[in-house]
Amino acid sequence: THMAEQQTLVLVKPDGVANGHIGDVITRIEHRGFTIDALKVTHATADQLHQHYAALVGEPFFPRIERFMTGGPMVAMIVSGFNVIEAVRKMTGATNPAEAAPGTIRGDFGREWADKTIRNVIHSSDSETSARREIPIWFPDRQYAPHQPEK
Ligand code: ADP
Repeated sequence: THMAEQQTLVLVKPDGVANGHIGDVITRIEHRGFTIDALKVTHATADQLHQHYAALVGEPFFPRIERFMTGGPMVAMIVSGFNVIEAVRKMTGATNPAEAAPGTIRGDFGREWADKTIRNVIHSSDSETSARREIPIWFPDRQYAPHQPEK
């Protein structure tokens, strides 16, 4: 991912919403100085999840992801800023909350569960290619459109 004005897709997953972490996620993004371009509460459909996690649809754990991600409302956001994709990935932390460093969103608000469903509070795009692909899945009237760089 090259250095530039970017946008990224952030989802506060159903566990993050149920446990009251919408504000925590938004606050961390705002404290870093990034801009929220769009934000809504939404309930994921199976179709959206198959698109969003297209690379994982064949995995044996995909039904678990689908059950978890459709189990309650989520918050979807488009966040923008210079190099925002890598910055928010760093704030997000490792996929498994048990391995995510303290100080990251997953490391501070998640933990491991015995049923092997990974409830990890947040999704954030991992590259410009992913952000471009993911944004319209959750915001059908939007496309990847980074702001003009500051002069
Ligand atoms: P990340 O969300 O950190 O980018 P991945 O793209 O690898 O991670 O996986 C997407 C999501 O799928 C994870 O956030 C997690 O919710 C779920 N997931 C990934 N691997 C597993 C697994 N082995 N078992 C259960 N769920 C998983």
